[in-house]
Amino acid sequence: RASNRTITEKDVDSVLHPYTNLKRHPEVGPLVITRGKGVRVYDEAGKDYIEGLAGLWCTSLGWGEERLVEAAARQMRTLPFYHLFSHKTHDVGVELCARLLEMAPVPMSKVFLAGSGSEANDTAIKLIHYRSNALGLPHKKKIIAREKAYHGVTVATASLTGLVNNQRSFDLPIPGVLRAGCPHHYRFARQGESEEDFSSRLAAELEALILAEGPDTVAAFFAEPVMGAGGVIVPPAGYFPKIQAVLDRYDILLVVDEVICGFGRTGKMFGTETFGIRPDMMTLAKGLSSGYAPISALMVNERVYGPVAEESGRIGVFGHGYTYGGHPVSAAVALETLNIYAERDILAHIAKVGPVLQEGLGSFRDHPLVGEARGIGLIGALELVADKTSRAPFPPERTMGAKVVARAQDKGVILRAMGDAIAFAPPLIITEAEIGDMLRRFKAALDEAHGALGLG
Ligand code: PMP
Repeated sequence: RASNRTITEKDVDSVLHPYTNLKRHPEVGPLVITRGKGVRVYDEAGKDYIEGLAGLWCTSLGWGEERLVEAAARQMRTLPFYHLFSHKTHDVGVELCARLLEMAPVPMSKVFLAGSGSEANDTAIKLIHYRSNALGLPHKKKIIAREKAYHGVTVATASLTGLVNNQRSFDLPIPGVLRAGCPHHYRFARQGESEEDFSSRLAAELEALILAEGPDTVAAFFAEPVMGAGGVIVPPAGYFPKIQAVLDRYDILLVVDEVICGFGRTGKMFGTETFGIRPDMMTLAKGLSSGYAPISALMVNERVYGPVAEESGRIGVFGHGYTYGGHPVSAAVALETLNIYAERDILAHIAKVGPVLQEGLGSFRDHPLVGEARGIGLIGALELVADKTSRAPFPPERTMGAKVVARAQDKGVILRAMGDAIAFAPPLIITEAEIGDMLRRFKAALDEAHGALGLG
């Protein structure tokens, strides 16, 4: 650390903790992490934990990647700060945008750099408004997002987010947000409904929503390829092509939020490729810099950029940008991250170890607490249920996920529960042996939780 102060409980109390039960925090927490190496992080006492979620789906290359440290240090010495405002820019920012356009899975025109996933999505929302104004369609502004979506925490992106805690007590959502169904086949399909039929029904419901609202008032649809914070929901067969066909009929833009799925997580470089999506905008963060420095990107196609540039010409300026957007140190780290993905052929590695994770999760299907094992590439989840036959969830006052995750932490694996779905998204560099180790630690925790129910 920069200082050698010993962290006390009082120090820890000085933090207003995000995503925490603030009232319960003193009795529950905190786990103070002090360092990391590979797929493991270490607490103050030196105990090791396998980071089963790559620290918020972020640290794709794991901890201790010296090349990223060097890239940051080099940039710190050369140009620690510059910005992208008012006809100025910096070389690393330019190179990063060019590289991202080369990597784009569908033709894209421009890249806007920001500092976080929320900022990239918030920018997408503003561009949607800007574009509709440019096209003389001031009423075409409504945005559709899905139940259980996660798109960030700014006022606008938290409004798109379809999780109650992101809105409760914050006076959200803002007006103009519409909600489409969550494509979770296991939970929301009707008895005997195939994946294809379920996808068709969701697309028909989307079309009915658009028609009820008036197609000339609906501007865009937001979607994560695999919904992450909503519980790792992999789209059912045929889902995106069917949704895309509806959007195309009413001239509605598709924004794909690749903040979690981008850079290999689903087995291809982008979730867009994995599921055959044709986005007009794509947002990227997390894996873009492997979490070593904050940065995000929004890619837009010509359909978006053309009118936006026109409008900007008319009014004199495109009045949007963040001081730290495309920060040179972050951009340098991102470029080196992309180099490493290419040199080490991260996709080939995921093709090898992804199936090991998925088979490992699949082996839990027989466990009395597990209703569904799902996933793709190096992202997956186990959904815990009170009754396997009826799929009945645990009642809200007896949720299981948090309990299992707490026991898993004791056993040395850090995971995250979204309700009763336990998510797995380890660093992409994880080995077969480390996956085995992670799942063994987890199984011990799950068995213990099951035993404690008095059923086992
Ligand atoms: N989109 C998705 C899909 C995310 O998972 C997240 C963060 N978990 C965000 C957007 C927001 O990113 P940030 O926390 O960097 O603002």
